[in-house]
Amino acid sequence: MEVITIEMLSLLKTRTEIAQEIGKIKNQQGMSVSNESREDELRELVKKTCQEINFDSNTALKFLNFLLNESIKVQSSTSNTHLAIFLKAKELEQQGKKIIHLEVGEPDFQPPLNVKKSLSEVYDKGFGKYGPAKGLPEFRTKLAEFANNNFDAGVNLENVMVTPGARFGVFLAITTLLDPSDEIIVIEPAWPAYRQCAINSGIKVRSIKTKLENKWEPDLDEISSCINENTKMIVLNYPNNPTGKILPKTLQDQIVNIAKENNLYILSDEIYSNYSNGEWSSILSYNYEKSIVTQSFSKSHSMTGYRIGYLVSSKDIIEKLTKLQALCLTNVSEPIQYTAMNSLGDDVTKNTEIMNERLTKLEEICKEMELEFVKPDGAMYIFARTKNPINTSDLSEELLNHGVAIAPGIGFGDYNEFFRISACLDIKTLIEGMDIIKTRL
Ligand code: PMP
Repeated sequence: MEVITIEMLSLLKTRTEIAQEIGKIKNQQGMSVSNESREDELRELVKKTCQEINFDSNTALKFLNFLLNESIKVQSSTSNTHLAIFLKAKELEQQGKKIIHLEVGEPDFQPPLNVKKSLSEVYDKGFGKYGPAKGLPEFRTKLAEFANNNFDAGVNLENVMVTPGARFGVFLAITTLLDPSDEIIVIEPAWPAYRQCAINSGIKVRSIKTKLENKWEPDLDEISSCINENTKMIVLNYPNNPTGKILPKTLQDQIVNIAKENNLYILSDEIYSNYSNGEWSSILSYNYEKSIVTQSFSKSHSMTGYRIGYLVSSKDIIEKLTKLQALCLTNVSEPIQYTAMNSLGDDVTKNTEIMNERLTKLEEICKEMELEFVKPDGAMYIFARTKNPINTSDLSEELLNHGVAIAPGIGFGDYNEFFRISACLDIKTLIEGMDIIKTRL
């Protein structure tokens, strides 16, 4: 037994070293790290071999997922994500350079005035102690009512837990509900954290690449054909970051049906729901017990730095996720919960109107620049490419030197020709930023 284990370790070392070398070549040639069709070939080979040697293919495929993830880990670089560009931009600002931030999705509005009032009350109200890991019961009750009124849900406080932002909600769901070597379906382009959370937990990402030519709509057959016994979850994010896409209702219905038929969890990240100008319906409206919906005050109430959001799911799932939340952070800061609770019902439609006006202006400019993009149905971004394809990682580095930060497409799943422009600045500054981009294209 020992000899076999040691031999396997030595083979793993050799495999990892080769993967590293391949990673360097891929990087030099601007190739993407994961190669779905190559992975499929390996899967088929593993299944065939299992038949020949009479070994359980499910165990073998899990082992393959572990190996594939190890390769991806050693080949991945985070130097080109929008977060990396944001950090570089901040560094330049510290050196006294002016940067127009078109890379970051952070609304520039002030939070509602109620936030100010509530913050001034928390001291006297005694919100300074440890609290329940799921959140303040009064807040959870209000969140459940809000979900019932706005998302066509039928939930109560037991279906709700407060999280420090949607990001932590996503982390809790992926980490708690999936085991290492399980598979998660991510429809790309996508916010990078779904992939990063999965890889961090040894979970295999199966990407469904969507295309601008197909209006960023996923192919149902492609989704169905990548599902196997190890597939446990599909991630949805509509309105979408970075494309602004909202799925047509029938397509969304079909995806939900596929998930139900295959007993998959649906992790639906709905933090842009109040920035939608098309027909949007929450996954909560399907009343599917294996759905987990993340929501946040970050974008809707412009409260990014307050770190407050929530999850809606079945009682059982909430119980499971609460254990990890209790372990990691005891509870979300109560002063912030109180503040968000009092602001929940505030009218934030003005934010949506302003964002829509900006998006309309950006669309107009992008058209003049002959950029290719799908008109966003919501969210706060335009995801575009030039007629003659260019590498936007290089473009984003170059633009930083000219005072503009953009988000290169590679961070959203190897969309090297695309870049994301965020509408989180006033129109005058947006125009100024786009004028600079024009000079570099
Ligand atoms: N989900 C998506 C799709 C996002 O774009 C972001 C942030 N840009 C988040 C979640 C994180 O939200 P929060 O600030 O609530 O953690």
